[in-house]
Amino acid sequence: MTTMDERVTDEVEALEAILLDDVVIKRVDGVPQAIETVVHPSTGDDADQQYVCVTLEVKLTPAYPDTSPDVILRNPRGLDDQLLSSINSQIKEKLSDCLGQPVVFELIELIRENLTESNLPSGQCAICLYGFVDGDVFIKTQCYHHFHSHCLASHLTAGERNYQEELEKLPHWQRSQTPPYQQSCPVCRSTVSCDVDALRRAPPPVESLAAPPFCLTAELKALQLQMAALLARQVAKGGVVCPGDSGPPPLTITTPAADDEAANSSPNDPQDGAKSDAFGTRNGHTSAEHSSPGSPRRPAYRGPYRGFNRRGKPGRGARGPR
Ligand SMILES: [Zn+2]
Ligand SMILES: [Zn+2]
Repeated sequence: MTTMDERVTDEVEALEAILLDDVVIKRVDGVPQAIETVVHPSTGDDADQQYVCVTLEVKLTPAYPDTSPDVILRNPRGLDDQLLSSINSQIKEKLSDCLGQPVVFELIELIRENLTESNLPSGQCAICLYGFVDGDVFIKTQCYHHFHSHCLASHLTAGERNYQEELEKLPHWQRSQTPPYQQSCPVCRSTVSCDVDALRRAPPPVESLAAPPFCLTAELKALQLQMAALLARQVAKGGVVCPGDSGPPPLTITTPAADDEAANSSPNDPQDGAKSDAFGTRNGHTSAEHSSPGSPRRPAYRGPYRGFNRRGKPGRGARGPR
């Protein structure tokens, strides 16, 4: 017991001394239980050149290091499944090779070597869906997601414009309580802070320049209808969060604002009109599901659609009696 403690204590001490704030040691009653650190490729001091990373979690078993710890890789960024599974099998080998001695530094080194070799964004830009090729200007966000600079500029500009439009629809008293516009990552919604003017100076994605001009085919139109119906279903079930949403979590049912209440109750509605009203029938983008005025009532809507609408996503043109 004493021997084991010493080996573990020495390793943990060394990790903390070398990695400083970059390592988190989880302890119970002062005894280390798990070690967690984010591993980056070696690029000297140039963090801007790190395009990939992964979180390494090492859960110490009671008899560690005489038994292997449980090793988990989480939050991979810029790594494809193939590379991840290759790293995982190298970890397994390393664990059996190092049985009986502290292994965390070895694991970090092994992962870092792999990341350094594959330090390039993989996959596509989530905004334009084109890949990253030679000549593309791209940016890595603080959350390690990659976009063409040009695409991210368009996305952030549109996001801010939407925010302003929604803000202007709010009554004055509510505007002052609304948090200011905050840029967010289009993939993971983490807060980002980018210089949009600098991004905008970047050229469009190389592959987009070579692509044939866009044409709305019958096939695409059919797909649009299908997607609109799907979105309506997701929204009705509370599965859609607005971009830049800083409100309550999506599955929280909130009390409707007074003006929404008025807009949603038709003159003939009973007192509980807002609660039992068929929200979907009033919104433009659910046109596929429109019912005629005489059709029977839909089931009561219970999700957070109201909050979604307050931010104006489906458009207010279709709202309220005409
Ligand atoms: Zn792009
Ligand atoms: Zn992100």
